[in-house]
Amino acid sequence: MKIIYSPDHAWHDPKTYFKGGTFHAPQEVPMRAEALLDGLRAAGHEIIPPSDFGPGPRAAVHTPGYLRFLETIHARWIAGGLGGEEVLPNIHPGRHMTSMPSGIVGEVGHYTTDLSAPVGPRTWEAAVAASNVAVTATRHVLDGLPGEARASYALCRPPGHHAFKDQAGGFCFLNNIAIAADYARREVSRVAILDVDVHHGNGTQGIFYERADVFTISLHCDPSDFYPFFSGYAHERGRGAGEGYNLNLPLPPLTADDAYLEYLEDALAALRAYAPDVIFVALGLDAFEKDPLIGLSISTEGFSRIAAAIARLGLPTVLVQEGGYNRDYLGANIASFLGGFEKARGAR
Ligand code: ZN
Repeated sequence: MKIIYSPDHAWHDPKTYFKGGTFHAPQEVPMRAEALLDGLRAAGHEIIPPSDFGPGPRAAVHTPGYLRFLETIHARWIAGGLGGEEVLPNIHPGRHMTSMPSGIVGEVGHYTTDLSAPVGPRTWEAAVAASNVAVTATRHVLDGLPGEARASYALCRPPGHHAFKDQAGGFCFLNNIAIAADYARREVSRVAILDVDVHHGNGTQGIFYERADVFTISLHCDPSDFYPFFSGYAHERGRGAGEGYNLNLPLPPLTADDAYLEYLEDALAALRAYAPDVIFVALGLDAFEKDPLIGLSISTEGFSRIAAAIARLGLPTVLVQEGGYNRDYLGANIASFLGGFEKARGAR
């Protein structure tokens, strides 16, 4: 399997993480990617750098105003004399205010969903590199078509699945998997995204909610009392042309391997019925039983079983890294996932 990685992820090095009324040590840090990389190297995987696909793929998914915001906001924030090392919102429009202000504080509130996406001086470069990692992995799989069911893994950081077309949130800025899926869609008819991160892929759902050509499925911890709280419910099935092309499987908190695999079968049955040309897996490892975010309870061996079940679909597959925050286990868990996938495919 081709593994794509860029050291440019390290340009995004957040200083803040706000949760439960207090600031904590950041979770989504450069050491995450290094831990994943160590695990991949130890397992003997070859690792290659991304190509630069230019602004086209990200501009096809995100709005011009949002891209300009991400690229320029930190410099303007500092030039404007606002405090702190990184850009954070102190207001959001909420449900009853819809006018767009001209000032910078309002702009930050407009383009973010929460306090979990602080923009640092070079966050933009890291986010662009992550999206190129995802598109490079996609290019490798597309180059095997028609006829070859290739697989690739994109070691993306920062992650992407909580980013909407015009909003950052939940540690995410550019939606890497959405950019990659949309890029693939230009060459094949149908693609599907299977999100196994512990959190609902709200940004990805939002981006494709009215489209039938990108089927979005997410298995995640029930959001009734878990991030992202306001989406991820079973009744969210898509809208307009996209009606029926979004499937959410909210799982009870602390769901473990055996029960998870049964829910996964429902997702895989839906995927088989849709018959996509390529599938994208939003590969969060934060469903792990020892993850500090405590949602589901998947074991290291469980990740191998989940991967094997996905691999047995026999489809061209792009794996895109999302969350996962227990750095002591990230290396073992990614090696377990990729090992399980390759063993089920009978090839490396
Ligand atoms: Zn997550």
